[in-house]
Amino acid sequence: MLAFQGPQKHPILPHYSSPVSSISTNPNSNSLSIRPSVNQSIQSLCLRNNLKQALQLLYKEPNPTQHTYELLILSCSRQNSLSDAGIVHRRLIHDGFDQDPFLATKLIDMYSQLDSLERARLVFDRIRKRTVFVWNALFRALSLKGNGEEVLELYRRMNAVGVRSDRFTYTYVLKACVVGEGLSLGLGKGREIHAQILRHGYESHVHIMTTLVDMYSRLGCVDDACFVFNEMTERSVVSWSAMIACYVKNGMSLEALELFREMMVESDDVLPNSVTMVSVLQACTSLAALEQGKLLHAYVLRKGLDTVLPVTSALVTMYARCGDLELGRRVFDQMVRRDVVSWNSMISSYGSHGFGRKAIDLFNEMVSSGTKPSLISFVSVLGACSHEGLIEEGKSLFESIRKEHGMFPSVEHHACLVDILGRANRLDEAAQIIADMRIEPGPKVWGSLLGSCRIHCNVEFAERAFKRLTQLEAKNAGNYVLMAEIYAEAGMWDQVKRVKTLLETRGIQKLSGCSWIEVKRKIYSFMSADELNTQNEQIHALLLKLSAEMKEMGYVPQTKVVLYHLEDEEKERIVLGHSEKLALAYGLINNSRGKIIRITKNLRLCEDCHSFTKFISKFVSREILVRDVNRIHYFRDGVCSCHDYW
Ligand code: ZN
Ligand code: ZN
Repeated sequence: MLAFQGPQKHPILPHYSSPVSSISTNPNSNSLSIRPSVNQSIQSLCLRNNLKQALQLLYKEPNPTQHTYELLILSCSRQNSLSDAGIVHRRLIHDGFDQDPFLATKLIDMYSQLDSLERARLVFDRIRKRTVFVWNALFRALSLKGNGEEVLELYRRMNAVGVRSDRFTYTYVLKACVVGEGLSLGLGKGREIHAQILRHGYESHVHIMTTLVDMYSRLGCVDDACFVFNEMTERSVVSWSAMIACYVKNGMSLEALELFREMMVESDDVLPNSVTMVSVLQACTSLAALEQGKLLHAYVLRKGLDTVLPVTSALVTMYARCGDLELGRRVFDQMVRRDVVSWNSMISSYGSHGFGRKAIDLFNEMVSSGTKPSLISFVSVLGACSHEGLIEEGKSLFESIRKEHGMFPSVEHHACLVDILGRANRLDEAAQIIADMRIEPGPKVWGSLLGSCRIHCNVEFAERAFKRLTQLEAKNAGNYVLMAEIYAEAGMWDQVKRVKTLLETRGIQKLSGCSWIEVKRKIYSFMSADELNTQNEQIHALLLKLSAEMKEMGYVPQTKVVLYHLEDEEKERIVLGHSEKLALAYGLINNSRGKIIRITKNLRLCEDCHSFTKFISKFVSREILVRDVNRIHYFRDGVCSCHDYW
């Protein structure tokens, strides 16, 4: 039993004064010797969630036990009552329990749940015997607040005083590496903790190893995550899901699908759960792998996962972004329940297909159904306005964020508005929006403006945006490419050269064009001027033949997209080697007639590929769907659904 420490003054909580004058503070009391019945009554009232009555009885009990306090504390958390928590805590101090590490742990948890980190911290600061459980409780509280830096600082202190970590400690500190510090610092700490985990013999602990995979994944270190995953002797569904999600998050969707296949084949006892399914559906989405997505949908239905909201939302997005908007809508309509994420999925699906009005209608339907729009809802609906050129609608939706919905428009919303105005060639107005912003515009907003300048070839505004962008994100190659393209279009070749030199001297890697196509449920990827594919010769021959034939129909190669001062013939050869054309030719050779050809591109579709695909769709009578980084283009009979506005 605890030694009685005598009432102590608490810095935040006022000193407890007993309303019952006869309370004795017998240090040797325990529940068996003195009035166990009152203790038991308090405990049973707590268990029945009758906190008020339990507190009244507490006044009558001179010697509450540790268990009584434990239940009282839990009850305060459940009832979400900070004032009652104060009463219990004051009495607990009065009874000398404030040096009990077990109760300290419970108190820290309670204050964390009651959103009073300050009081949780005080409990921690006052306790002298800090067991690993006490440390963990504070780590947990800080983690919930996203305060990773403090977790790592305290962890350092914990190591210094020689308290040994347990598996929970490792979970908290590994997570702290992701939220706490800047990427490189977090990574350094993470590696240190990784080494410590191995030293302490936790390498076969599934949960810790999985957390490590997740940490490396969030820090963008795919190789490290992969290494840990491969070394694992035992893997749970969470481990598999973490590694699959790691690939998806880091733009390696092909690898994600491959790992999912491996999981299904190799581990009989591990079955995918809803988290796994969301990740693999996202992988299909980013690859526009509709056929594989359909197989996954069938699996979802078989396993009854179609009632899990994130799964159905992922299905809606998968269908729509893979080009089948109708199937996406059907899944959406069949949902028994919907949350704001489900609505957002469908709204942004309409947006990516260029159906701005439908997106607005659905947004209004969501609001009238009683679902409160999130900030992402506005990003989705404003993005949709931009794709259809709905300027006034976009402006009034933007206004409504503050006026009707009581939220503050973020940088992203401003970027959407700038995009809406910029695309409509109202660049003055867009620039004014940026000038009037109350928050720092950041790269997203300036990037929007630069993108619009690319469409309308406005050198003046482009230079202004580019200047800011080189300060804000000096390493983003996309900005340099856009600026160079604008100069090239304006025929300012000296400037093109200057921007390209800038790109080279700063050692920035340009993102190379890459396109994917799904043929017979397999994904094939093409890099611009790819030499690797075995069907390469056949592809080139077909492209040359089609190009020659289409020229007779009026196709003129848009060689201005080539940022080199070269002969026209040479430029034509370069644009003909663009990855989306290679993927398109591969699709024409290998996909049976009548089937829609679906291609995904990692960058914006260039003018030449756009016009080439329009001609092809008419020339070979095929429907072609290309999803680029901005939207979905649906080519049929010589026209594109974007009306050449993307
Ligand atoms: Zn192209
Ligand atoms: Zn288009």
